Amino acid sequence: MATDHGSTSPGAHPTRRSLVTGLAGGAALGLTGLTVAGAGAAAAHGTITSYPGVGGVPTFYINLSDLTSFGYRPSFHDQMGQWMDFWAANVPDSFGAAYRVGCLGVHYDGRVTSAHNNGVGFDLTHIYTKTASGSPVRRFYARRDIWMDWAEADKAPERRRYWATAASVHRYFRDVLTYGSHPSDHSNHIHLDNEVAGPSTVSFSTGSAAQVRAAQEICRWVWGLPTTLDSVWGSETASHTSRVIAAAGGSGSLTSAPRTNWLLFTRASMREGYGTQNYPAP
Ligand SMILES: [Zn+2]
Repeated sequence: MATDHGSTSPGAHPTRRSLVTGLAGGAALGLTGLTVAGAGAAAAHGTITSYPGVGGVPTFYINLSDLTSFGYRPSFHDQMGQWMDFWAANVPDSFGAAYRVGCLGVHYDGRVTSAHNNGVGFDLTHIYTKTASGSPVRRFYARRDIWMDWAEADKAPERRRYWATAASVHRYFRDVLTYGSHPSDHSNHIHLDNEVAGPSTVSFSTGSAAQVRAAQEICRWVWGLPTTLDSVWGSETASHTSRVIAAAGGSGSLTSAPRTNWLLFTRASMREGYGTQNYPAP
């Protein structure tokens, strides 16, 4: 299980801004990559490389116009691209193409978390789409620290999109930290990484409090079930998630088929949350 960083409060951003600006220089990035390349097993997945986006969608830092490249392990960058493609394919066609993705950081030697040290952690803040003739529209906004104070009518759709996107992230990454699982330091971004699990091995585990909490939040805010949010696997969470699986056309539970039904649960939750598909009420 990845541990995450305490350096993600809004107050830490100016420091990170300087860092990211520094990393944008090729020489600095190359030196950083050399330093980390000998750091352990993650080195086998390639030298840290700078990319301007994920899945062909440019990344930006805080402000939409502030396009920023980040350093990744190539295998992790590939996995980010798969997630981005999935997200874009499972929002309504009317949204248009994915346009830009907000990111607070990827590779960073100074962060205490090894996922970021190894270039396999990503801090997600925004996603915008844009139709061929339209203006950019924000479709995901991780700033729960901001929208938590909005009126319910404005907050509810933001929260629904948050958990729909969180479902998509949980589909591709074993370790995902949200404001639900980690409220003290993830109220302004979703952290995701593949440091432990690697690509294509995501599966549900009742021992993952972060996955359990996400399943509960998704049941409640995407599917409208009165699910208790306590991060503990129990009969109510088992029942509610199984009802969602059935509504999505599957059978069994998250424990009877931990990979198959996690993939089904997260895909249907992404599509339900964005209104891409209307499923029967669970
Ligand atoms: Zn992070």
